[in-house]
Amino acid sequence: MDHFTYHNGVLYAENVALSDIVAKVGTPLYVYSTATLERHFRLFDDALSGIDHLVCYAMKAASNQAIIKTLAALGAGMDVVSGGEYMRAIKAGVPTDRIVFSGVGKTHQEMDMIIQGGVRQVNVESEPEMVLLDKAAQRHGKKIPITIRVNPDVDAKTHAKIATGKSENKFGIPIAKARDVYATAGRLKSLDVVGIDVHIGSQLTDLEPFALAYRKVAELTEMLRADGHDIRRLDLGGGLGIPYVRGNQAPPLPEDYGAMIKREVGHLGCEVEIEPGRLIAGNAGLLISSVIYLKEGEGRNFLILDAAMNDLIRPALYEAHHDIIPVKEPAADAKYEIFDVVGPVCETGDTFARNCALHRLTNGDLVAFRSAGAYGAVMASEYNSRPLVPEVLVKGDQFAVIRPRPTLEEMINRDTIPPWL
Ligand SMILES: *Cc1c(COP(=O)(O)O)cnc(C)c1O
Repeated sequence: MDHFTYHNGVLYAENVALSDIVAKVGTPLYVYSTATLERHFRLFDDALSGIDHLVCYAMKAASNQAIIKTLAALGAGMDVVSGGEYMRAIKAGVPTDRIVFSGVGKTHQEMDMIIQGGVRQVNVESEPEMVLLDKAAQRHGKKIPITIRVNPDVDAKTHAKIATGKSENKFGIPIAKARDVYATAGRLKSLDVVGIDVHIGSQLTDLEPFALAYRKVAELTEMLRADGHDIRRLDLGGGLGIPYVRGNQAPPLPEDYGAMIKREVGHLGCEVEIEPGRLIAGNAGLLISSVIYLKEGEGRNFLILDAAMNDLIRPALYEAHHDIIPVKEPAADAKYEIFDVVGPVCETGDTFARNCALHRLTNGDLVAFRSAGAYGAVMASEYNSRPLVPEVLVKGDQFAVIRPRPTLEEMINRDTIPPWL
């Protein structure tokens, strides 16, 4: 569910007409709905009610500080994967005891930063990292809470580029080696081993792979406890998918996901963390773009937009589908035609959708890409020297620019010319 609906023939974000935002900010731009962000966070929070838990938003999905602040105000923790994300979370006022530090290649600068600043726990991904973190913590005279990310060798049945839980993926330590690695961790004086971490992938549309992974984590918990480790926290990762195609069978609901978690690990009495990103931000954001040209080709009509793969790379990178709808509601009897919807970048990969049924649009008409809130703006680049796409947050009848569009000068003036030129 989201809060983007037509009123009086125009698409609204909550109580604001998107055409009003575009009049002020221009296109392309991302628009997020506060009510949708809040609703999705609460679905997860409620789904885990009754057990000790913390929902840590995976902020790599959409990391604008306004989004982080919105969620943190509801009690959200943050899952961060870099020093930059850690700084954003701190700057947005997230208490450090709600920040979890994940990521497969933490540098020693990042370790110093979070050891000094404070952290809820570090999710360690390898033995060398564990040893390095222990040394860094020792240097600072601190003891750092950790979990170790285990790779349960479970097929997440998702796109290969976002599957992370098979043994051939780079993530975590093989679950079969876990007892040995925990034994080593237990001997490191500056680490406090508090739990286990697992994350098997993103855009999962079935609960079964989660359940398989969590069952393995539950078994491991019992084993590690028998070995003398005080396992009291389970970080169960993120990954619940969203429906990108309307009308398709919807992925499981957070409520059912929560019930499954309680069933698989509830008896252990551990504090449970989850790290959803996509499901919180995905349907809370739209990418709005204008039609530049309608180009009628031989046997194919191209709708050329002012948004491109640099603004939303998911179709090019993951073969992802985003529903594209007009901002002005088509008349009930409007005739549909078939278009390829493309951006202006000089690559065939800059194609958002093939054979997309839309009513006839012309120069200047606005379209909205649905479900673009997660892994959209954060993956934008300046490819083709196109300025980074701006972001707007709506709340009720208000809206605010939360990241302005850089001018061409601002973009270009970041280059510096060496003295010999
Ligand atoms: C990407 C990631 C998440 C979030 O995944 P979603 O599919 O967006 O919910 C959570 N935890 C870790 C460790 C991740 O890498």
